[in-house]
Amino acid sequence: MALLVQKYGGTSVGSVERIHAVAERIGSYRDRGDQVVVVVSAMSGETNRLETLGHEVSEYPSAREMDVLLASGEQVSIALLSMALIDRGYKGCSFLADQVGIVTDANHRRARIQSIETRLLRKALEEERVPVIAGFQGIDEHGNLTTLGRGGSDTSAVAVAATLGADECQIFTDVDGVCTADPRIVSRAQRLDQITFEEMLELASLGSKILHPRSVEFAGKYQVPLRVLSSFEDGPGTLITKESSDMEQPIVSGVAHTRDEAKLTIAGVPDVPGVASKILSPVGHAGLEVDMIVQNTGADGLTDFTFTVKRDDYDRALGILDNVRETLGAREVSGDNRIAKVSVVGVGMRSHAGVAAKMFDALAAENINIQMISTSEIKISVVVAERYLELAVRAVHSAFELGEAPVDKDD
Ligand code: ADP
Ligand code: ASP
Ligand code: MG
Repeated sequence: MALLVQKYGGTSVGSVERIHAVAERIGSYRDRGDQVVVVVSAMSGETNRLETLGHEVSEYPSAREMDVLLASGEQVSIALLSMALIDRGYKGCSFLADQVGIVTDANHRRARIQSIETRLLRKALEEERVPVIAGFQGIDEHGNLTTLGRGGSDTSAVAVAATLGADECQIFTDVDGVCTADPRIVSRAQRLDQITFEEMLELASLGSKILHPRSVEFAGKYQVPLRVLSSFEDGPGTLITKESSDMEQPIVSGVAHTRDEAKLTIAGVPDVPGVASKILSPVGHAGLEVDMIVQNTGADGLTDFTFTVKRDDYDRALGILDNVRETLGAREVSGDNRIAKVSVVGVGMRSHAGVAAKMFDALAAENINIQMISTSEIKISVVVAERYLELAVRAVHSAFELGEAPVDKDD
């Protein structure tokens, strides 16, 4: 008998049929004697719908009220799934985050889980119930509803698994595991049997939507065995593991991409000490996250400074830079919010030279211009025009031979 925390994402509970299919699946684990704690997302499309609605009513919606609005999607799915379980003879029992006691900090829309009460959950398990918990939401110490950021129900599940000391946290989704690239873009992307926490964290942080970055961080920190699997078909999925010396280390494990980027340049700034801080401090103070930064080699005492922010923050960042331009007497501010970032990730890169050259060659062969580059020990990221994103991902994926062999038409 194992204690499993199973998380079902939006597509997995996206219709009445899907809810019944998930209830069947949970039932099959109960029938073989496992204890199951379930975490669910809102039905697919629902959180987007609610977000749009909020913006239709208010141009700058209150973050507190937006959380109350967005969290409502999960309330629907926990109730429906619990009903489907009860109809099958299992003791499904829904829990909102405040009923369980999932306490977060007070940062609306990107709250971090601080603690989870186990008393009620353990009691429910002793009574042979199947707790069905609303993912993505929490409450702060004053009882305000919070949400963990889009995709955050993965993190709810891993945090519940860590707190309960579960044998495995299983993330059920609409693909059969973590693949070498997003299968929606690369049809020949392959499922990985396993991937290290370090690589998974890098992929998730660089845009692979398959897991919320915080969930991987949590699982690594609290040693939660984490597996990504399909809720549509049976299969082994992908196990997220610790790096071990006898594991074969591919040079590149996967390709990640994100469209959630925008680039800003302030040109003709004085090339003197302190200028980077004068440009970036106001951006940081406004709460905007800066990702890549490039400062060109100066000429005639002047230089250009370019950085990227999240696409949603583009307009605010432009406004801030306009003020900075005046203060510094810089020449001009320009920007582009139609860029995308493509990254390759692999722990094997540490011991291999030439990975960057191979990536750049693949992009050059497709005539794709690289606008910015950033590297770390286990990743290389480039910024390209958004219109080349899919081509770039496919080119890089095939340069590192990550795909399944093409099917031979004569077979
Ligand atoms: P859920 O609603 O189950 O949380 P998400 O849409 O958040 O599902 O995440 C699953 C999606 O992640 C897949 O449908 C796939 O398009 C996308 N994805 C991105 N990168 C990868 C990858 N490397 N492997 C598998 N899926 C990926
Ligand atoms: N329903 C939330 C979202 O769409 C949380 C999640 O799916 O993990 O972002
Ligand atoms: Mg998700």
